[in-house]
Amino acid sequence: MPEDPLEEYRSKRNFRRTPEPSDGERSASEAPIFVVQKHQARALHYDLRLEVDGTLKSWAVPKGPSPDPSVRRLAMPTEDHPMEYAAFEGTIPEGEYGAGAVIVWDRGSYRNLRGEKTEAEGRATMAESYEEGMVEVWLEGEKMKGGYALVRTSRGDWLLIKMKDEAAEPGRDLTADRPASVLTGRTLEEVAAGEATPP
Ligand code: MN
Repeated sequence: MPEDPLEEYRSKRNFRRTPEPSDGERSASEAPIFVVQKHQARALHYDLRLEVDGTLKSWAVPKGPSPDPSVRRLAMPTEDHPMEYAAFEGTIPEGEYGAGAVIVWDRGSYRNLRGEKTEAEGRATMAESYEEGMVEVWLEGEKMKGGYALVRTSRGDWLLIKMKDEAAEPGRDLTADRPASVLTGRTLEEVAAGEATPP
């Protein structure tokens, strides 16, 4: 039996109580996806998730992503999440793991930039890049665009850094400028207050 990458995810949650998905897969024929979920747990953070081999590799980014290449954002690795989680928006109940409101802050597809390099330049699959602690992706989101690097530090945390390219926006505060859900237009505060999805 292959190891179940979602074992830790499932072990932390009671699916009779939380509206979060327990499972879910997708067709491998389309471009891989990424999602960023703004999550008001005990501390506000942004969960960056990249599809790798059928699950969502995940990092919690306390300050959220920045399109400014001079800004390095701490990204703490968290457990793999199921593919279906990319569409989750709602409120995790009190007493459950990660209790609090979640919105889909950004989403789209991505390309593995290291997969496009030569052997000499350091070509790697996404799984290899994750193992090595050096991920380079080109994001096609509604808010996040262009190259982003995720680099693991000697402490085991990662840094999320915008690469220098035509999509870089020095000085831009994307989290402040574009706070709402790309799925429903709601803010995190509206979801937390229990406002329904607009028709
Ligand atoms: Mn979270």
